[in-house]
Amino acid sequence: MSRRNNVIDLSGRVAVVTGGAQGIGLAVARRLLASGAKVAIWDIDEAEMARAVQALSSLGDVKGFRCDQSAIEAVDEAASATERALGGLDLLVNNAGIAGPAAPVVDYDPAAWRQIVDIDLNGVFYCCRRLVRGMIERNYGRIVNVSSVAGKEGNPNAAAYSAAKAGVLALTKSLGKELAGHDIAVNALTPSPARTRILEQLTEAQVAYMLGKVPRARFVEVDEAAAMVVFMLSDENAFTTGATFDLSGGRTTY
Ligand code: NAD
Repeated sequence: MSRRNNVIDLSGRVAVVTGGAQGIGLAVARRLLASGAKVAIWDIDEAEMARAVQALSSLGDVKGFRCDQSAIEAVDEAASATERALGGLDLLVNNAGIAGPAAPVVDYDPAAWRQIVDIDLNGVFYCCRRLVRGMIERNYGRIVNVSSVAGKEGNPNAAAYSAAKAGVLALTKSLGKELAGHDIAVNALTPSPARTRILEQLTEAQVAYMLGKVPRARFVEVDEAAAMVVFMLSDENAFTTGATFDLSGGRTTY
């Protein structure tokens, strides 16, 4: 029997999905639109983003904004442009990220390390920093920070990515506690491997290593990630904050 989707009502909400041009972010954007939200995709890949916006436009109000989230000014500009186009921003999915090169720590290129931390961790801080102020003013917000099992476990030959993703978990915990007096929930997601473009940055051995540790013995589907994210973004997710929602098929059961 095919699975039935839960119906989540996000009508009237305005969402930002970083890295929404493809992969997990695109699936989240699609599910948000199906749930009635207006969606702004922020992405550095303009061509892929234009394709995504065109593919999704029949589902609802979706717009693309070019943004390199490793630059704080670019994040501030994308936020202001999005607010002008769609109004106050209620929902934020910090999903954009890169894996970076595979190498042991002793050989890791410091420039690559800094780029990964700039995008995967500092970019999440820039987006939260800019959007949370409006959420506090309106006393409403839902934030999902997409981390990874790598952030809990640390994957070999991926120390920069693992460290950045662990930083995202700690940022989520701090921000969740800071905002607990408001109707704002800040939570993180830790997926195991999904078959998206980011895997092209890894070696086959790395992918096999990660997949071999997943008790469900398969990739997580991007639609499975989207289903968990839209629940995390829903009005009903009003109590849990600063937490990590596991999406690892049994790998990281903590
Ligand atoms: P993906 O490569 O398909 O999509 C990532 C998107 O982020 C792309 O559209 C890319 O253009 C965008 N992006 C990259 N750098 C950017 C920047 N500086 N500013 C703005 N946008 C930028 O990858 P995905 O698998 O869909 O990954 C989404 C998130 O899920 C990432 O944070 C990733 O670390 C995380 N994740 C992925 C997996 C997996 O196996 N696919 C597992 C765990 C966690």
